[in-house]
Amino acid sequence: MSDSHTTDEILEWASSNIILRNSPFSLERYPFLEQIYQDISPIQVFRKAAQVGITTYHIIKSLWLADTRTVKIIYFFPTDSDVRDFSKDRVAPIISASPLLRERVRGTDNVGLKKLGDSSLYFRGLLGKVRVRSVDADYIIFDELDMADRSQKEYARDRILHSSLAWESELSIPSLPGVGIDASFKASDQHFWLVKCPSCSTEEPLEEHFPDCIREVAGEVSIVCPKCHTPLDVRCGRWVAKHPQQGEVRGYQLSQLIAGIISPGRLLSEFKGAKNETVKRRFYNSMLGLPYAGGMVPLDGIHLQACLGSEPMRLEVGPSYMGVDVGDTLHISVGKMTTEGRVRIFWLEATESWERLDELIEACGVLCTVIDAMPYKHSAKELALSHPGRVYIAYYQGEHLAKGREGKGEKAVPKVNIDRTESLDELVARLSRGEISLPQGGGAVEEALRHLGRLRKERREGAGGRTVLGYAHGLEDHYAMALNYMLVATAIAPIRAEREGISLKGLRTFK
Ligand SMILES: [Zn+2]
Repeated sequence: MSDSHTTDEILEWASSNIILRNSPFSLERYPFLEQIYQDISPIQVFRKAAQVGITTYHIIKSLWLADTRTVKIIYFFPTDSDVRDFSKDRVAPIISASPLLRERVRGTDNVGLKKLGDSSLYFRGLLGKVRVRSVDADYIIFDELDMADRSQKEYARDRILHSSLAWESELSIPSLPGVGIDASFKASDQHFWLVKCPSCSTEEPLEEHFPDCIREVAGEVSIVCPKCHTPLDVRCGRWVAKHPQQGEVRGYQLSQLIAGIISPGRLLSEFKGAKNETVKRRFYNSMLGLPYAGGMVPLDGIHLQACLGSEPMRLEVGPSYMGVDVGDTLHISVGKMTTEGRVRIFWLEATESWERLDELIEACGVLCTVIDAMPYKHSAKELALSHPGRVYIAYYQGEHLAKGREGKGEKAVPKVNIDRTESLDELVARLSRGEISLPQGGGAVEEALRHLGRLRKERREGAGGRTVLGYAHGLEDHYAMALNYMLVATAIAPIRAEREGISLKGLRTFK
């Protein structure tokens, strides 16, 4: 690090004036933060895990700058409700715990603006209603913007054009490779916290060797050398730039592997417990501070061609599962589970005939059908009543897969609530891994491939005004939904044919 971009001023100021959770400010337990607190490079990027102290660092750095200079600082979050939470829960307690800051803060208690002497600290939602273009600034900070609109960020960046300081910082938990904070980090000098192995002298980024850098030895889980598995003391590391030639932007990678705030034992058990794509993605993003592609990248033609199996499309008899997407046309997918837990689809069909569903259920020996409850709920319920216990009407609602019943007495039918994003993530991931195969040939197969290829993720506002990622609605993706319902059917089928005694007799041959 060049000396002109280094100072002990922030650490000294924080030690005298900041109290965190009833204790005087200290980095004794977080040695990886020391260089960061000394670093005043104008442009900084932090690709980070959750809870590694980087947000607190930015609050303290902002308060220090506002206290010791006359500056305007804008701290950006994705939405206005993020701003309210941050200002109330993170900033206000730090100010009220500090005798100096309590004294220096002027004016009314405003969540969007703190005045400190002649300095101003603005908190703004980038997607919010308060225009980002209205204030010039000396220091702008973008926090958790990975899912915010990038064009808004460029407007915000114009705020520092006329400042002599012109500092800019971006920090976020990553999402997709090559997107948002990951793209910014890759354009930086990429500092990694390296810990030298006392046995073999290996010194490499732990994040890039996960899970080889974490081991259970004699009941104790430790961070270890990825080469020789000697336990490492992660406090004894140093920051090294992977691409020093990209030095105009200072980048730091922060994970729970180096922060030591979450124990290695808990990291390992969470990693092993991450069974579905949503949980796995959350682990990579929030614990390792790494982008994760699995299940997020839309399916492309190459993936999809690999999903074609070797068998021609034909109706088969035997325990099977059906998914039905409902509109004026019914899109149907029927498949079997293989002994290896794969799903082999043998029939795809689009029809306007509800009777065709009865026919297929009886003829193929479908154990479990999941059908869209909407928009023709009456017809879906009739189907369920005609095949007691074997047909579930489905709703995309709730955050978990949950079975229940709808209606009273003789009219009650099984229903299932499905988390749309989570279930489609799972469908995409299983298709990508080749765990679902489609039959060969036929217009229906080609149409199904087209529908699957249209699955796209988009940003939208979720509960409490927070930005979430979900699959776009309103696309011509009916077969994708039929496959999704069929997968749910394999997961919730209550019975095996023999146990339930479902008769597979009286089957007809279809053309
Ligand atoms: Zn080693």
